[in-house]
Amino acid sequence: MNRKLNAQLIAPCGMNCGICMAYLREKNKCPGCRAADTNKSISIIRCKIKNCEAIQKGKIKFCFECEKPCARLKQLDKRYRTKYNMSMIENLEFIRDNGIDTFIVQQEAKYKCPECGGVICVHRKKCFACNYIES
Ligand SMILES: [Zn+2]
Repeated sequence: MNRKLNAQLIAPCGMNCGICMAYLREKNKCPGCRAADTNKSISIIRCKIKNCEAIQKGKIKFCFECEKPCARLKQLDKRYRTKYNMSMIENLEFIRDNGIDTFIVQQEAKYKCPECGGVICVHRKKCFACNYIES
């Protein structure tokens, strides 16, 4: 139940796949943006960021390493800031400045369910393990 967060679950755009509804749900679980394209929604399979050449070829791991971050990142960031109170760009800056391990520790603390120690979903604002709802 208490899924451990790891660097493989942090998408190139700075999204923590570990707090995503598609990853946390039981049915049709998404393995995360960096995993193989099985059980993923079309929008994720077609994601410009995930399919970015520099990312695919392993030249860079995260968008902050890019000389010219694409418009998609800004759109995504805006949508998440407005709807989910989360910022990909802030996440990326945190990773750039503090490293991925510190980011993981920060994310685990930030989205930890106070009831069962599970993960609070960023989209649903609730814990899928015990149904605790964030107020
Ligand atoms: Zn819980």
